[in-house]
Amino acid sequence: MRDIVTVDTGHERYDILVGPGLLADPAAWAGLPKAALAVVVSNTTVAPLYAQQVVQQLGTRYARVTQVTLPDGEAHKDWATMNLIFDHLLAEGADRKTVLFALGGGVVGDITGFAAACFMRGVPFVQLPTTLLAQVDSSVGGKTAVNHPLGKNMIGAFYQPRRVLCDLDTLATLPPREFSAGLAEVIKYGPIADMAFLDWIEAHLDALVAREPAALAHAVRRSCEIKAQVVGADEKEAGLRAILNFGHTFGHAIEAGLGFGEWLHGEAVGCGMVLAAALSARLGGVDEAFVRRLTALVRRAGLPVQPPALGAERWLSLMRMDKKSEAGEIRFVLLDAPGKASMRPAPDALVTDVLRAHGG
Ligand code: NAD
Ligand code: MG
Repeated sequence: MRDIVTVDTGHERYDILVGPGLLADPAAWAGLPKAALAVVVSNTTVAPLYAQQVVQQLGTRYARVTQVTLPDGEAHKDWATMNLIFDHLLAEGADRKTVLFALGGGVVGDITGFAAACFMRGVPFVQLPTTLLAQVDSSVGGKTAVNHPLGKNMIGAFYQPRRVLCDLDTLATLPPREFSAGLAEVIKYGPIADMAFLDWIEAHLDALVAREPAALAHAVRRSCEIKAQVVGADEKEAGLRAILNFGHTFGHAIEAGLGFGEWLHGEAVGCGMVLAAALSARLGGVDEAFVRRLTALVRRAGLPVQPPALGAERWLSLMRMDKKSEAGEIRFVLLDAPGKASMRPAPDALVTDVLRAHGG
């Protein structure tokens, strides 16, 4: 049993397959680009768990299959780590047709995608996301990047994969904290685009936390559908795509303010959504009952709802450094109504007020 979601950017089209057992299902691998060499890029945590299945599938389709195993962690999402992929590709005699397979979470997906965009000016790549966050967010939409010491995701490219295989079985080994972080990005799609989905998440949150297969399948498929629709309408973030950053302006300030890695990205986004909803309520887009409802859901997902006490001045200066800021003006993704969002500035006084009310 599997679902297919198609991403169509107007000049590129690819399928996201969602279901259990995909990595071991020959049908999921049919019709990929032909080449003499396939390279599986993973990390020291994920490769021992799932690379075997992938290598076995690829072995029936490619004359040669090799592996690159990167160090694990956001701290290694950098140019030096990406260069390990180039070293491998050149040593193995890779050519323009060589296909890269990114097996892992968002870090492996982002590095491998950017390596694929650069190597010989572009070789095909396939996303095999193994975290909830990667399945519902980072593997879809073609943003690829590595970090620079002076900024996260600062060096990168828009480069779409040829296919995305979201094998739900891989989520079984994900640590609970990482799973909750992924749920934040699932919840995000409700307030910005689909209130019926938010209702569904509320009704099925316990099933999701218990990682019940049917609940996971629906959550991943619907999240991918919404992201595919948004990316299809605005691949390079001229406008609409920015709504996917709901909760992220506050969230990035938490991550940067406490030092990256202290809170997981999804944890910061969960808390950030509570603050963004509260700010939206001050501006009349949603009511206080909606804010309470979202807060309760974020909390039930195992995510923090109380922001760290950074102090108003520090919050504002951190948010002014956000990529969405323009000429020192902080811009937030705010709810115009439940299920509808847009990016706008908000008065500093109101932002400070919201932070103070939440103990930030
Ligand atoms: P991650 O890739 O670091 O994975 C989290 C941890 O889980 C890692 O230690 C990883 O090795 C481990 N892991 C992965 N799959 C596992 C499994 N099945 N079982 C057990 N352990 C497993 O983190 P992430 O949350 O997946 O991704 C975060 C990254 O994604 C960030 O770098 C962020 O910038 C990026 N991102 C990109 C986009 C995009 O559009 N490209 C969107 C959102 C986030
Ligand atoms: Mg995010």
